[in-house]
Amino acid sequence: MSEVSEIFGSLVFNDTVMKSRLPKETYRAMQMAIRDGKELDLAVATVVANAMKDWAIEKGATHFTHWFQPLTGITAEKHDSFISPIGGGKVIMEFSGKELVRGEPDASSFPSGGLRATFEARGYTAWDPSSYAFIKDKALCIPTAFCSYGGEALDKKTPLLRSMEAINRQALRVLRLFGNEDVTGVKTTVGPEQEYFLIDKAHFDARPDIQYTGRTLFGARPPKGQELEDHYFGTIKPRVTAFMQDLNEQLWKLGVLAKTEHNEVAPAQHELAPIFSTTNIATDHNQLTMEIMQKVAKSHDMVCLLHEKPFAGVNGSGKHNNWAISTNTGVNLLEPGETPYENAQFLLFLSAVIKAVDDYQELLRLSVASAGNDHRLGANEAPPAIVSIFLGDELTAILDALENESSYDGPVKEQMKIGVDVLPPFPRDTTDRNRTSPFAFTGNKFEFRMLGSALSISGPNVVLNTAVAEILRQFADELEGAESFEEALPQLIRRVIAEHKRIIFNGNGYDEAWVREAESRGLANLRTTPECMPYFGGESSIELFTSHKVFSERELHSRVDIFLENYCKVIGIEALTMLEMAKKDILPAVAAYTRELSETALSKRAFLPEADCSYEEAAVSQLSAGTSCIYLRTQALEKAIFNSKEIEDVEELSNFCKDVLIPAMNELRICADEMETLTAKDFWPYPSYGEILFGVK
Ligand code: ADP
Ligand code: MG
Repeated sequence: MSEVSEIFGSLVFNDTVMKSRLPKETYRAMQMAIRDGKELDLAVATVVANAMKDWAIEKGATHFTHWFQPLTGITAEKHDSFISPIGGGKVIMEFSGKELVRGEPDASSFPSGGLRATFEARGYTAWDPSSYAFIKDKALCIPTAFCSYGGEALDKKTPLLRSMEAINRQALRVLRLFGNEDVTGVKTTVGPEQEYFLIDKAHFDARPDIQYTGRTLFGARPPKGQELEDHYFGTIKPRVTAFMQDLNEQLWKLGVLAKTEHNEVAPAQHELAPIFSTTNIATDHNQLTMEIMQKVAKSHDMVCLLHEKPFAGVNGSGKHNNWAISTNTGVNLLEPGETPYENAQFLLFLSAVIKAVDDYQELLRLSVASAGNDHRLGANEAPPAIVSIFLGDELTAILDALENESSYDGPVKEQMKIGVDVLPPFPRDTTDRNRTSPFAFTGNKFEFRMLGSALSISGPNVVLNTAVAEILRQFADELEGAESFEEALPQLIRRVIAEHKRIIFNGNGYDEAWVREAESRGLANLRTTPECMPYFGGESSIELFTSHKVFSERELHSRVDIFLENYCKVIGIEALTMLEMAKKDILPAVAAYTRELSETALSKRAFLPEADCSYEEAAVSQLSAGTSCIYLRTQALEKAIFNSKEIEDVEELSNFCKDVLIPAMNELRICADEMETLTAKDFWPYPSYGEILFGVK
């Protein structure tokens, strides 16, 4: 590998490249567009497009594509070549400003939840200059938003950018109250830690369930799982090391700040953490990371599984969304400061997050809901489905003292002018002390830990940004109208703590007692996707998102439909896959093995009439009973699938999936997994959990 500093960003049309390749005025216009989200005029875009094209061709690109994030959750691209005929059978390489700023993918088959009438089915993509263009697979990729002709968002980027604008507006109002006139922009930052599994390609090829659904639908537990926890942070195996090196190199070239990697708790599970960046770039980069992970794994004869729960009984994969708010002057507003004013400001932003998480707990919960993630949340390996905040004992004690107007007994005690105790310097908590908390303060940022590994981080950050923006709006309204800011501020903070401290929980989130305690505190416990998704189209959600212009009511309803539809489709595919596996592979395998044993008994007796066949007889009897069980449960599942086809309303269907299909699938699985333990290895049609989980050396 060549020098890291040399390859880093080598495939990105970044600031350095722009500075060296664009005329001064064009460069300045670009910078403004990036910083303030100003639209570029076509003349400028034409110059940029031309420079981009020349640069991309030098790097070996032949095509360009608008790269966007439709509601499928993965990225989409449609490649066009740069060639343009000039007569005489010749072509030149061209790329116009118009092609840069706007595209029209034939995207009628992306989910739109009814937003795009068929006569205008195309929708369009619009350049997002705040995320750099890059080269992937010989194509110049231009990060874009994807909208309908009516301007409705059909993607995950548009609402994210809108939510960042919302929090920017409100945070600036609050900063002005503190007399801060220097800051002109506030952005949220995110560092998403990504978990994944790596398995051998041969095992993947032998498992229709993993191929069709990303997870195993059958599979008996191996004798050794993660009990010994010897995989966590353990030595990385040579094939995995080679994969990680290759992955890093490819990500670095794309300007992704891949930083840390280690083994995770489960065998075959690993994690990659980047250095944080602005939320929309972090989102683009996380999508790229997931894509490149899968690609690089293939080239190493492995498959990267991003599913939240590939193996039952083994830890699933999540994604930790580390989130903070930063000013354009480089100040993290969630960093406790050194002066009384900084600390008062910190406490106000902290209170805003606490209130936002409490007021909009259902929305945060549903922002991470998916069929896959339903297997994790509340299953004592990931945070519970109940949203709560971990602040740590020290910060909680400070808030308690504030609320009760008593002095905090910390190392520093000095009453500040506005009535808020000076905060002691915080010991930075980098140890992840409480991994059971869904939303943990870790010293200068919050770590939202409910995300599943396959999820785009856009959704949760849209909710987080908008919810906090709304609370900052309320705070700004109140404080701007106050006679004395210095008196109103501590009163406000005190009131917020008193009203919202129910959301703070520093204890063990896996504890059964917490579920009861949370209930008595009135916190929501939404266990599944069908239970929480309707909240997205509810009154409080509509009020929140429309008032901050993040979603229109129509966009919200369409998204509820799309998410529920997606949930039903996933469960439907899983159910059909199980059925096929049971009928085509598992039942015939068990039957064949039963016959083998029966024939063994018969031939033993033919050879030696008084031979002892107790093993064969016992096994045949167990296998026969098991076969009948699988058969009956296959029939039950088939009937449930048949009945599901009759349901047209998507909400009703999602509940049917949850209440009927999933239980029928679970029943079938129990029977089949039991048979796996009784059937000889040579007869069982699939590689076992043990083989898959310990198969990569
Ligand atoms: P750990 O959680 O393993 O102790 P860190 O606290 O250093 O490690 O960071 C975890 C993740 O949080 C990293 O991706 C890091 O870039 C990110 N992070 C750190 N500071 C911020 C911040 N201000 N905003 C967003 N993410 C951050
Ligand atoms: Mg962490």
